[in-house]
Amino acid sequence: MIIGVLALQGAFREHIHMIKKCDAGAVEIRLPAQLDNIDGLIIPGGESTTISKLMMEYDFLDRLKSFAVSGRPIFGTCAGAILLADKVGGKKQDLLNLIDIDVKRNAYGPQVYSREAEITVEFPEPEIFRAVFIRAPIIDSIGSHVIPLALYNNTYVMVRQDNILVSTFHPELTEDSRIHQYFLRMINHKQQITWKQNEFLRVQKI
Ligand code: GLN
Repeated sequence: MIIGVLALQGAFREHIHMIKKCDAGAVEIRLPAQLDNIDGLIIPGGESTTISKLMMEYDFLDRLKSFAVSGRPIFGTCAGAILLADKVGGKKQDLLNLIDIDVKRNAYGPQVYSREAEITVEFPEPEIFRAVFIRAPIIDSIGSHVIPLALYNNTYVMVRQDNILVSTFHPELTEDSRIHQYFLRMINHKQQITWKQNEFLRVQKI
């Protein structure tokens, strides 16, 4: 199994390290044609405006949309989550629109409010995970087909819609590979989830 990590800007090296740690193949993706040869893609954290400009310059948008339509999984972390979102700050983006969520950028405030926190992740059994938030966005709302997988401070910090997974934190910046392993199970089609399993998370949301 080969996982591509979009390597236009941001924390792509750390994701490559994590995937190798999970004993899967990892490759840096710098050109759209490389998407043909991978089984899943990670869009890393970084600066979403910079990555979006480079995505457009290198003609990634349509190729990434077809990649998602082909059923292959995509995992966006932090800026990657922003790039995959349908809406930012209540407005529809003119970008990938691959997951029905509305995100607010830099929602915890300036860099001094970046933090580490213990969150509970549905793997699908609930397990504690130490999450690193760096100038993270907040997921303000989710569509009816989006399944929450983790909550922090009463907002969703990891959600999934079919083959698209996003987290507002950086699982690649710890040595804990459970989130990457979850993504690899999505690629193997071994990690299907239903609303029922995650019902309690929805109930907790204000
Ligand atoms: N603040 C960044 C943005 O809005 C995201 C930060 C990150 O990826 N750690 O693009």
